[in-house]
Amino acid sequence: MADDCLFCRIVRKEIPAKLVAEDEHSLAFRDINPQAPVHVLVIPKEHVPSLDQARDAALLGRLSLMAADIARKEGISGDGYRTVMNTNTAAGQTVFHVHLHLLGGRSMHWPPG
Ligand code: 5GP
Ligand code: ZN
Repeated sequence: MADDCLFCRIVRKEIPAKLVAEDEHSLAFRDINPQAPVHVLVIPKEHVPSLDQARDAALLGRLSLMAADIARKEGISGDGYRTVMNTNTAAGQTVFHVHLHLLGGRSMHWPPG
């Protein structure tokens, strides 16, 4: 846990968020500035700043599996969805607590910007 980390504060329920899923290790909540009809952030409860600093395969794997489970529940699995992890500044990472974006409910473009 990092005292001054926004997402750690959401884990501690110090800052409100629209929770979508929670288990022992992970938390999912709706993005405050959604870029698609479904835009959910899936995070580990443990503070890891970015993928570059991640060493725990199970921690990372759980994020993908929770995202897939949420996608099925949100009804976007059939049409398809995108999971994205921005790492460091050039990729656009703004919150340095690792998170997987789940985006769906509209067509996605490739290559991404
Ligand atoms: P990044 O740019 O680091 O990949 O993604 C950070 C995401 O966190 C952004 O999509 C941003 O909209 C979202 N975000 C930032 N602050 C908050 C907040 O206080 N609550 C929620 N639910 N999302 C946030
Ligand atoms: Zn954190």
